[in-house]
Amino acid sequence: MPSFATSPGTRDILAPDSARWRRFQQVFADVVETAGFGHIIPPMFEDLGVFLRVGESTEIVTKEMYDFEDKGGRRVALRPEQTASVCRAFVEHRPVTPWKVWYAGPNFRYEKPQQGRYRQFDQVGVEVLGVDDPQLDAEVIALGMEFYRRLGLTKVRLSLNSLGDSGDRDRYASALRTHFSSNIDALSAESRATLERNPLRVLDSKRAEDAQLIAASPRMADHLSPAAEEHFLQVQTSLRAAGVTFHVDDRLVRGLDYYRRTTFEFVSESLTAAHTAIGGGGRYDGLVADLGGPDTPGIGFALGLDRTLLACDAEGVFGAPQSRVDVFVVDATGGSEAGVICTELRTVGIGADRAYERRSMKAQMKSADRSGAPVCIIVGDDERNANTAILRTMEGGSQHIVQRDDLVAQVRRALGR
Ligand code: AMP
Repeated sequence: MPSFATSPGTRDILAPDSARWRRFQQVFADVVETAGFGHIIPPMFEDLGVFLRVGESTEIVTKEMYDFEDKGGRRVALRPEQTASVCRAFVEHRPVTPWKVWYAGPNFRYEKPQQGRYRQFDQVGVEVLGVDDPQLDAEVIALGMEFYRRLGLTKVRLSLNSLGDSGDRDRYASALRTHFSSNIDALSAESRATLERNPLRVLDSKRAEDAQLIAASPRMADHLSPAAEEHFLQVQTSLRAAGVTFHVDDRLVRGLDYYRRTTFEFVSESLTAAHTAIGGGGRYDGLVADLGGPDTPGIGFALGLDRTLLACDAEGVFGAPQSRVDVFVVDATGGSEAGVICTELRTVGIGADRAYERRSMKAQMKSADRSGAPVCIIVGDDERNANTAILRTMEGGSQHIVQRDDLVAQVRRALGR
């Protein structure tokens, strides 16, 4: 018989880590819902065209998309990110603006799997559509920082840049193209290929041979229109007013083509591997129009769950919660007493587990130990006949007899509830 394992770049998330994931999403929900964001659950696959709008010169679209033809002949793709889906939903439902939404869930990119980089990875994120106010940019960024603070992370750095309006960005791209093309021999082969597709992405190269040319390249700051520059300054003023520390990095371009004006990245200083970016976002004022909607400004961010948890591990914060039941029921009468008692306890919100298959008393006590339950209830023939049970406190091992009809109250007392 063939045996199977998960596909490359995918993982099973088992308990107690899965409980940590849930808590991560819950903390995020708490932070953003307090700020007036509503939950959106977009589909995991959409018409391929939705994602093509993310940008035909980004690798996410050109190389990494899980796209296929479904049985009805439609060209669809698993979502590589969720901003495009949110914008598609905006165009489809035309909600009142400002439209503030948050999301959580998996995305799919055919990347080279490694630590911190997966083919199925989770993100949480927010988007705001319909507001063109630099104060909002600052508020959205501050919300991301607040979330990290709530996880307990202290070593998250905020990098900030402006990519200008689309005209600025185009002028900058062509200045970069001229710069790199006239020094093409000094550029790595990989960066030469990138230059063809998107000159901005050459700035992302971490290759030593490209470093000098990149350092000498034209600067985005010199290509901002007065309006974009003013917007950028106001974002910075608002961030300072909100007490958010940042540093301006005018080499920050980010992977997605749709960004305009404000762009930012959250970087974990506690991660040493290649992938230190734990989240990022920016303005994408043209995306809704690209998807067939009215001209609508938008801003948002996506935070990588998998990678942020690696940062939590590195900082020793937000560990996996202990998952254990409150009570383990050991039944030497055949098992039906355990069933009744478990149901009784669970009904009133006390976690209870038991053994099966008429295991020996010794084996059941071993299971009780392994369960981590602080309290054990033991029922044998004598107890059943006398309508009693033995309540054992696992730590210390003290035990006493309790009346069956007083069992719940006694368990509560033993649990300190
Ligand atoms: P992006 O959607 O590319 O702007 O990515 C936002 C965040 O998602 C990044 O900062 C990462 O934390 C995370 N991320 C992106 N791609 C992956 C991946 N393949 N595996 C794990 N996390 C990822």
